Amino acid sequence: MYSDRTRYIEIDVKSALNKVTSARYSGIRWSLNPYRGCKHGCIYCYARYTHTFLALDPDRDFSSVVLVKRNLPQVLRWELRKKSWRREKVSIGTATDPYQPPEGHYRLTQAVLRILRDQRNPASLITKNTMVLRDADLMASLHRAAGFSLYISLITVDEALARAMEPDVPSPAQRLRVVQELARAGVPVKVAVAPIMPGLTDSEAQLRDLIQAIYDHGGQLGFYQTFKMYADTRKTLFNWLAREYPYLLPWYRRVYGQGNHAPRAYERRLAARMARIHEAIAPEHPPSPPEPVAPAGQLSLGL
Ligand code: SF4
Repeated sequence: MYSDRTRYIEIDVKSALNKVTSARYSGIRWSLNPYRGCKHGCIYCYARYTHTFLALDPDRDFSSVVLVKRNLPQVLRWELRKKSWRREKVSIGTATDPYQPPEGHYRLTQAVLRILRDQRNPASLITKNTMVLRDADLMASLHRAAGFSLYISLITVDEALARAMEPDVPSPAQRLRVVQELARAGVPVKVAVAPIMPGLTDSEAQLRDLIQAIYDHGGQLGFYQTFKMYADTRKTLFNWLAREYPYLLPWYRRVYGQGNHAPRAYERRLAARMARIHEAIAPEHPPSPPEPVAPAGQLSLGL
């Protein structure tokens, strides 16, 4: 049994592929998550709700109790061989980071990618962790065999802010180096700027620095999304704001106390800002339509 400060519980699952029906993930047909819960513990994480299905606390337990789906590779192999399977794209990491620390020991994500490659099944994956470099060759071969897209999630280049919001995640500088190395290795890699946090990561200067850094490292902006609140994230985020940014709490309470979305006027201003910045930095690389590998229930804003 792998162990660090987090409690890992090994479980056996009956299915690996989840057919997506929730509007939360619009655009994703099949998802796969090798773990449940996430040691990265981002304060804005929308996936905290997945712990409530297990009677675990989405605030306290999400990053301290992580379930490991130890038989996932065997189950996936069996599911992909079914006659009814149509080789549709599988989105990996919709509710957990597939390269969070226990992956170094369990190698479930690596096994999943190998199976998808051998079965010539297209896939996409999103992560914040530098461990993804370990599997660069595997991803490049999966891309050649069936098509693969990788998203590195990065919401700011401010190291202190990132550490405060994403306490157990490699720094922005480390993630930018990953983008650079993966692009050189022939892995199709884009950056997901999601979520953009109102009042925290959304200023013109912050977004300009971020997008400039992405292109300076050979990357490309894949998509961005404004923060959307889910009920089981509210307590974690509001407590954090009360401690770290008390002056922002009234605005967040007013906007996200009951509702989920930022105001339309805010979304419009942000869209104009992102378009302006992107046009100035990389007009020759218009972002593709938002690819919903991430919490797609968060509103995707095409540039
Ligand atoms: S890395 Fe992703 S899944 Fe993990 S806590 Fe952060 S936002 Fe949630």
